[in-house]
Amino acid sequence: MPTLLWFRRDLRLGDHPALAAAADGGEVLACFVLDPRLEASSGRRRLQFLGDALRRLSDDLDGRLLVTRGRPEDRIPRLVKEIDATAVHVSEDFAPFGRRRDQRVRAALDPVPLVATGSPYLVSPGRVGKPDGSPYRVFTPFFRRWRDVGWREPARSGADSARWIDPAPLRAGQCEIPDPGTELDLAAGERAALGAWEAFVDTGLPHYARDRNRPDLEATSRMSAHLKFGTIHPRTLAAGLDLRDGGAQAYLRQLAFRDFYADVLYHWPASARRNWNPDFDGIRTDGGAEAQRRFEAWKTGRTGFPFVDAGMRQLRETGFLHNRLRMVVASFLVKDLHLPWQWGAAWFLDQLVDGDMANNQHGWQWSAGCGTDAAPYFRVFNPGKQGEKFDPGGDYIRRWVLELAGADDVHLRKGERPQGYPEPIVDHDAERAEALRRYRDLG
Ligand SMILES: Cc1cc2nc3c(=O)[nH]c(=O)nc-3n(C[C@H](O)[C@H](O)[C@H](O)COP(=O)(O)OP(=O)(O)OC[C@H]3O[C@@H](n4cnc5c(N)ncnc54)[C@H](O)[C@@H]3O)c2cc1C
Repeated sequence: MPTLLWFRRDLRLGDHPALAAAADGGEVLACFVLDPRLEASSGRRRLQFLGDALRRLSDDLDGRLLVTRGRPEDRIPRLVKEIDATAVHVSEDFAPFGRRRDQRVRAALDPVPLVATGSPYLVSPGRVGKPDGSPYRVFTPFFRRWRDVGWREPARSGADSARWIDPAPLRAGQCEIPDPGTELDLAAGERAALGAWEAFVDTGLPHYARDRNRPDLEATSRMSAHLKFGTIHPRTLAAGLDLRDGGAQAYLRQLAFRDFYADVLYHWPASARRNWNPDFDGIRTDGGAEAQRRFEAWKTGRTGFPFVDAGMRQLRETGFLHNRLRMVVASFLVKDLHLPWQWGAAWFLDQLVDGDMANNQHGWQWSAGCGTDAAPYFRVFNPGKQGEKFDPGGDYIRRWVLELAGADDVHLRKGERPQGYPEPIVDHDAERAEALRRYRDLG
């Protein structure tokens, strides 16, 4: 009997447990539903990456991928009816939007089952709990338990696992795959993900533990967008790690962070928008015209702090930002400019190719001090010192801040600014003191 395989954040054919489950039943129709609500909130770069990944997936299926636009609770039951499917197979989505959507689809499908097999994580949210069953609020004990829970070997699946139904004769409305015409510095699709991962294992992983904080070196894996859209599964990455090696251990820890934030968002869905720690609800933030002017300077990389500006310009030009810079520019927005973390998080989601609710909202809350396991509020990054430490030769700043491309003193230690480069919009020491005052006012 035919089944439907509904792709979402799992745009690959290898290591795909839901595909393996769907293929068990016989013929399979592969489909993707472009939900207009997600299209509207995607940011043009994420939409481009999604479109590119769908084109690659369709190629890998010899064109037998049906892409349709509409509300999933309408489109999926309609497709089921048309091919007389006995079940709809998915990889489970644990984010608040996806859970609500799946509840609606499940209700609309009844009695045809929506079968969830596997998820985008090594260990799915909800599976790592304290002995009393409550969720972890701190990463390190989560990490220990997470390793004990463990995960399976990569699933055996591929294009030839199923007999794919040709969608061409179906009446269900097919639509064009989005192609907003935005240039990306990262190739999408399963083959690109596997190729980039293999190259990283050979050249980057051996130095990852030492260099992963250095934005001037290309020392990280750039797997984040692939993980976001599931063009590769973290199990495939973990299977390639030799855990006797320090680089591999450090890398696995980062994958655990990804699972941790997904787990936190699963247990506290309201933390997608609100402070995870309500003690911070009373913190004073700035508003009005001056706050907006500073926010614009931050977004456009014209704060007068070279390391911050380099990061914000890279983000705006490419849609990617190194983790160290994400932490530095987030700290600057919250503790030097006194703006709500939600403003910065929204700008990141608009710009990032890898924009992800769990990692982004909780990365921001970590920086703002109001999240789980957060950086203590009183620890304020000094943007100048961060630049000197993590971009010691200044190559990263020179690359993104053109006014400083020819400068010897890119960190502006001597205070002489090349023509055209802005004066600092705030005095860091004074704003640090102001941030600490506001923190103390919380009582
Ligand atoms: C304010 C802020 C916002 C962030 N927003 C996002 C986001 O929207 N999407 C996103 O994927 N990551 C986000 N991160 C986490 C991290 O910065 C990126 O995952 C990482 O920079 C991606 O580059 P990479 O793949 O080369 O990382 P690598 O160093 O190669 O890490 C490998 C993988 O581990 C995971 N990972 C690494 N660091 C973290 C982390 N701190 N938290 C959670 N997972 C991590 C990612 O999936 C990453 O692809 C954010 C961090 C901060 C501080």
